[in-house]
Amino acid sequence: MKVLIVGGGIGGLTAALCCLHFGHEVTIFEQASALGDIGAGIQLPPNAMKVFKALGIDHIITEKAFEPEAIEARMGESGRPIFKIPLARDAVEMWGASYLHIHRADYISALKEVLENLAPEALQLGARVASFREVGAEVTLSLEDGREFRGDILIGADGIHSAIRENLFGADRPNFTGNVAWRAVLPVTHLKSDVPNPTACAWMGPGRHVVTYRLRGGQLVNFVGVVERDDWREESWTDKGDLQDLLRDFENWHPVITQLINSINPDDLFRWALFDRSPLPEWSRGHVTLLGDAAHPMLPFLAQGAAMAVEDSWVLAREISQQDRAVKESLEIYQNMRLSRTSKVQAASKGNMKTFHQRRRLGQILTYGPMWLAGKLVPSIVHRRMNWLYGFDVTVS
Ligand SMILES: Cc1cc2nc3c(=O)[nH]c(=O)nc-3n(C[C@H](O)[C@H](O)[C@H](O)COP(=O)(O)OP(=O)(O)OC[C@H]3O[C@@H](n4cnc5c(N)ncnc54)[C@H](O)[C@@H]3O)c2cc1C
Repeated sequence: MKVLIVGGGIGGLTAALCCLHFGHEVTIFEQASALGDIGAGIQLPPNAMKVFKALGIDHIITEKAFEPEAIEARMGESGRPIFKIPLARDAVEMWGASYLHIHRADYISALKEVLENLAPEALQLGARVASFREVGAEVTLSLEDGREFRGDILIGADGIHSAIRENLFGADRPNFTGNVAWRAVLPVTHLKSDVPNPTACAWMGPGRHVVTYRLRGGQLVNFVGVVERDDWREESWTDKGDLQDLLRDFENWHPVITQLINSINPDDLFRWALFDRSPLPEWSRGHVTLLGDAAHPMLPFLAQGAAMAVEDSWVLAREISQQDRAVKESLEIYQNMRLSRTSKVQAASKGNMKTFHQRRRLGQILTYGPMWLAGKLVPSIVHRRMNWLYGFDVTVS
């Protein structure tokens, strides 16, 4: 099968690797002239790592990643622990693969390196897709520079503002969540004391939260802060933010957080308005389908957006390999196999927004108290609550 993929993000690159694994021919069209260095980290959970294991490239990714000691939650102002799930060794034992943190640039470059070894001509950079049309059993894709390419299947892995999705199903109507996310990456050496633990740590507070974790052998700290405020509506990874504004958002927080914010280089601080979208009822039409954020954009409160794109990639490549069906049928089967899981993850991500941002004392006690108690009395409960997510193995389902 000749597969055309629009978008060279984590979704598009992984889809290309999965398609090659199942014996298809692929071309990826990425509008950027180089796969850029977005200064941000990403959590790479066991459910995604299982796909890389099945592709035989988990070691390449692990080499560039950082293995956190635990997932933990704390109160943002006092730093008081709420719960801690140990990860070193335990993640593999409990969920069948490691839980990692990785710089996005390292993640993308690992996938790109593998792809270039397997199919040196597959990635077309500076190739912005303008339109596509289906004629009979073929899809023809046109680039803005006028070139045309033909294939059997077209995959829209073109992200949250997907033009392929809009073409198939019309413009979406995202709802602003009233949350703005701040992000920055900085060297640990810029922090004098109060360095964040080598864990994935969620710091909870009224109407806001922070997530800290380490990257690149622990030498970099990734910071994401989310605040309920409605004075910023741009959904863009590259808009700069104002450091004083961020300091005000987390005034009187624990010294780990305030010192970290004070150490951010203002040129490396970005902000992004968070919009919510309901699950799409369908992702495929004819020989065209969607994957990753194009299919199921989700809020970042469960750190699973890219992981879902990785799971989609395996299922899609496997289903289009079934010889006894028409392409259209395989794409419908792919969509139906993925819809309930991705919708559940979308809903759980949204639910975490409420959990993380409890405003009232009573709400905090009723939400975090049982978590703290369960972590003390029966720590395995805290692990088990995540089995549906991290324990899932899309390569055997
Ligand atoms: C603050 C924040 C933190 C997050 N943390 C995590 C996390 O810890 N773990 C996790 O799993 N997920 C996380 N996510 C979500 C994750 O970043 C996304 O789900 C993931 O990057 C989506 O990948 P994608 O390949 O589907 O889309 P994208 O990464 O958006 O890639 C789409 C690509 O398509 C290209 N493109 C678009 N239009 C065209 C066109 N017309 N022609 C050619 N190319 C085109 C774009 O240039 C881009 O390269 C987070 C998100 C946010 C906002």
